Amino acid sequence: MSIKESLLKIKKELPNTVTLVAVSKTKPISDLEEAYAAGQRIFGENKIQEMTQKWEVMPKDIQWHMIGHVQTNKVKYMAEYVSLVHGVDSLKLLKEINKQAKKHNRVINCLLQMHIAEESTKFGLDKEELNSLIGSDVFKTLKNVNVVGLMGMATFIDNKNQVKKEFSMLKEIFSSLQRVKSTNLDLKILSMGMSGDYKLAIDQGSTMVRIGSSIFGSRNY
Ligand SMILES: *Cc1c(COP(=O)(O)O)cnc(C)c1O
Repeated sequence: MSIKESLLKIKKELPNTVTLVAVSKTKPISDLEEAYAAGQRIFGENKIQEMTQKWEVMPKDIQWHMIGHVQTNKVKYMAEYVSLVHGVDSLKLLKEINKQAKKHNRVINCLLQMHIAEESTKFGLDKEELNSLIGSDVFKTLKNVNVVGLMGMATFIDNKNQVKKEFSMLKEIFSSLQRVKSTNLDLKILSMGMSGDYKLAIDQGSTMVRIGSSIFGSRNY
């Protein structure tokens, strides 16, 4: 199947409450152009340098999502244009995003990444760290970031029950925090689900899926 065909097939399956992020990491510009021609306007990348190179040459109505782990010293390269940062997992990083956003007179939307998987290698906050971050005095002073949701990755495993349990746990945290609102906190987006598990994620309440290989084919690193 072509990129266009795969993209349209997935889009047709998604409920209209779910936003599709086309994960184009490692893929050449020509692949992104094909997806763009098929109507895709939201692209996800996991390396700031690669995303910036693509942003420079692609049409300017694209929304660029940083879905990978973000190094503090690289935030400055994407602050001018990034539309949503999915992987925020510390106050230190949020402070840097705030600082760089301010230089460009912007407010940058962010998702806090939660640790829901069993693997200890995956990044993210636990529930206590989340509560202490959003409850901190410093957080409330960050006027150039908006925390608009949560993001999580399930364990990479065939056991559907395990994956379902992890997604439903994240959905529960999300729902309980939706009632908590402040000037820079209003949870609307729940980013969970990738090529292998997005249907499960949607069943558990995902509002944003990040799909790469099912659109662009497998990646060769
Ligand atoms: C690569 C990546 C995806 C997409 O993975 P696929 O299995 O190719 O759909 C989604 N989310 C994150 C954080 C990723 O790094």
